[in-house]
Amino acid sequence: MAFDQLGLVPALLHNIKSAGYSEPTPIQRETIPYVLEGRDVLGCAQTGTGKTAAFALPILQNLARHPGASHSDVRALILTPTRELAQQIYDNFVLYGQHMTPRACVIFGGVGQQNQVDALQKGTDILVACPGRLQDLMNQGLIRLDTVEIFVLDEADRMLDMGFIRDVRRIAEKLPEKHQTLLFSATMPEEVEKLAMDLLKDPAEVKVDPVSSPVKAIDQYMFYVDKANKKRLLAFLLKDPAVENALVFSRTKYGCDRIVRDLKKAGIEAVAIHGDKSQGARTTALSRFKSGDCPVLIATDIAARGLDIEGLSHVINYDLPMEPEAYIHRIGRTGRAGRTGTAISFCCIDELKQLGQVEKLIGFRLPVHESDWPMENTTPSVPAKKVPTSYRPTNVNMRGEAVSKPRHTSPAPQAKPTRPGLAKPVQRINRRKGSGM
Ligand code: AMP
Repeated sequence: MAFDQLGLVPALLHNIKSAGYSEPTPIQRETIPYVLEGRDVLGCAQTGTGKTAAFALPILQNLARHPGASHSDVRALILTPTRELAQQIYDNFVLYGQHMTPRACVIFGGVGQQNQVDALQKGTDILVACPGRLQDLMNQGLIRLDTVEIFVLDEADRMLDMGFIRDVRRIAEKLPEKHQTLLFSATMPEEVEKLAMDLLKDPAEVKVDPVSSPVKAIDQYMFYVDKANKKRLLAFLLKDPAVENALVFSRTKYGCDRIVRDLKKAGIEAVAIHGDKSQGARTTALSRFKSGDCPVLIATDIAARGLDIEGLSHVINYDLPMEPEAYIHRIGRTGRAGRTGTAISFCCIDELKQLGQVEKLIGFRLPVHESDWPMENTTPSVPAKKVPTSYRPTNVNMRGEAVSKPRHTSPAPQAKPTRPGLAKPVQRINRRKGSGM
C-alpha cells in the first residue's frame, strides 16, 4: 500500500516523500484512516514502528482542513512522559507539517519556562507536553485546554511506570466534553486498560508488533561475564569497527557515570544521559551522540525510552533490566524502520533471574557468545536467604549468650548457582591486543 491510498492531502504526501518514507508502516496503515475519520483509537505498538507519524500526519490534516481563526487556541494536545520524547515528537510535527498552517510548540520541565511561554504566546495549534510542565503552566493560567479537539496520550504504560497516571487523569479532566482521544501504549497493564476505558469512546483497536515480539531485524546475543569484568568486555566490544555507534544501558544513574569513567580510562569517549543530569547536559549528550560526534551513549531506561536514533548499530545491555519488557524497548532503539541492528546483553551471576524473564518474554534462549572474560564467579552477591534458627552461629545460644559447644555441626546451606546456557553452543570471539583496561 502507498501513502496516497490513505487519503492524505498532497502537502503531506510531499513532506512524507521529503522525509524519505516510501510506504506506510503497519501502524500507519491501520491508524491513519481511523484518525482521519475522527474516531478514538487504542493503539498497542512498540516504539520504532512509526507510531509518531501514525498520529501526527492525520492530526495535521484534520487541523489544516478546518483552520482555526487564529493560532491562539490549543487544538491538539500530545502528552508524553519524557522530555526527549516530547522534543522528538515536536520535531516530527515540524518535519511533517512543513508549508502547512498548523503550528506546533513543545513544553517540558528541567529548563526555564520563559522561552516556552514566549513560543506559546506567539500562537500554537499543536502542543506537545510532558505532564509536569503542562500542569505548572496551566496553574499559572498560561495554558487552557478547553479548546482541545484531539488528545493523544503517548506511551501510556511508561506514564504509569513513572507515576504520572494521576496527573494524566487530572489533565484529561480539563479537556472539553467533546474531543477525539488516541491512546498509545507498548504494553497494556491493568491500570492502562482502566485508563483507556475511562478516556476512550468506542475506540478502534490497532495492535501492531506486541511487546513480546522484538523487531526481527535485530541480531541478539549475550555474554556471561562477571560484574567486575563487564567494563573490560564493553571496552573490547566498542573497539570493534563493526560498532558504528552504541547505546549502552545501565540500571542506575551512578552506574552510567561510572561506565563513562571506566571507558575513558580505556581511551573511549562516552557521554551519559540520565535523570540526574541537567536538561542542558542531556540535550548536549544526545545531540553529540546523534550527530556522531561521540559514538557511545550510556543511559538509564528512563532517559532512553522512545529515543529515535537514526542508524544506531548496537544496543548493549551492560546490566539486564529489572522488568523484562524494558529489554524489548531497549533493543528497539536499533533495527528501526527496516534497518538491521545488534543487541548484546551482559549477564553476571546476580542477573540470572532477569535473564530468565527476558528469555521467557521473547520466547527463545539468547545465543551465548564467549569472550576472554568468562563468568567465573558463581556465588551470588545478593544477601543469602535468612539462615534458619537451627543454623545460628554456634557459639551463641538462643538468648544471645555464649555457649562453649556448638549446638549444631551441620553446615549452613549454600546457594548453589548454576550457569545456565553455558552448555549451549557458544561462539568464541578473540580479544585483540590493546583492549584491556
Ligand atoms: P517512531 O516509532 O515514530 O519513533 O518512528 C521510528 C522511526 O521510523 C523514525 O526514525 C521515523 O522517522 C521512521 N519512520 C516513520 N515512518 C516511516 C515510514 N513510513 N518509512 C520509513 N521510516 C519511517
